[in-house]
Amino acid sequence: VSKKSGRNAATCFAPQMAEERAVDRALEKDLESAFEQGQLRMVYQPIHAVAGTAGGGEVEALVRWHHPDLGEVPPSTFIPAAERSGQMVRLGEWIIRRALADFAHWPGMTMSLNLSPLQLQHDGFSAFLLDACSRHGIAPQRLFLEVTESLSIERNTRALLTLNLLRNLGFRIALDDFGTGYSSLSMVKSFKFDRMKLDRSLVMDLGQDPASMAVLEAAVTMARHVGAEVVAEGISEEHLIGATLDAGCTHLQGYYYSKPIEADDVPAYFAQPGDEHSAVA
Ligand code: C2E
Ligand code: MG
Ligand code: MG
Ligand code: MG
Repeated sequence: VSKKSGRNAATCFAPQMAEERAVDRALEKDLESAFEQGQLRMVYQPIHAVAGTAGGGEVEALVRWHHPDLGEVPPSTFIPAAERSGQMVRLGEWIIRRALADFAHWPGMTMSLNLSPLQLQHDGFSAFLLDACSRHGIAPQRLFLEVTESLSIERNTRALLTLNLLRNLGFRIALDDFGTGYSSLSMVKSFKFDRMKLDRSLVMDLGQDPASMAVLEAAVTMARHVGAEVVAEGISEEHLIGATLDAGCTHLQGYYYSKPIEADDVPAYFAQPGDEHSAVA
């Protein structure tokens, strides 16, 4: 019976898998021309400092792809497609050029950039980033580089060496999506992160589930012990602010404050008088 159903399953699933691969390939192919066709753009989501914003505020740069037939394709779909098809370095360079060109118009601000582990492994990445910064007169201290534990960087010597070099050059390094991967805890030991970004999944159940607060507090305590700032991601509703502040988060980010906004809208967002863009009104 099992043999038979196995065969049936194979004949049933094979075409579906082939179809999915064909869709992936088509997307990877379309991405090749997205650059010249002006289908890519950057948007910027504000990050609010609990202690108020000394200086001019902070945003995280996030890439967008408007596909001519499919509409908006989420980065969680096309970043992996770029990584699979050998286009991540090129895409990453496009992102850095575009984001830094925008950032050059926002004196006093801080910006966070997401990096794929493939960019960190690429020869010449540090030189490219430094060159882009100096071209626009941007000090490394004004940038946070966000890395994820998706490609287990503690087992990736090259990425780790690059991260250390960049940190020594003055860039600040953030561990993104903290609390989602199996390697979270060992990552904290393998690199001196300046900041941890607690994933939305650690924040969203606060107030409903007592265990969530325990996990959040443990994560913040750990970050504190290694001298890192703690950003709570996914603050989508007001009731999440109190608990994240109580736990000791230093920065808050989420739809409650603002969705990602267009570059042209960034200066106005942060031009509000006083401390209106700090995390607590
Ligand atoms: P991430 O770096 O953790 O970025 C945060 C994601 O959460 C963004 O999604 C943001 O729009 C979303 N978000 C922020 N606040 C809220 C909220 O309150 N509720 C909900 N439901 N979502 C919220 P986005 O832009 O779709 O990006 C998804 C992921 O794709 C990013 O996660 C990052 O890993 C990757 N990504 C985006 N842009 C880039 C990029 O320029 N380079 C690289 N390498 N990866 C990127
Ligand atoms: Mg990020
Ligand atoms: Mg994140
Ligand atoms: Mg996340």
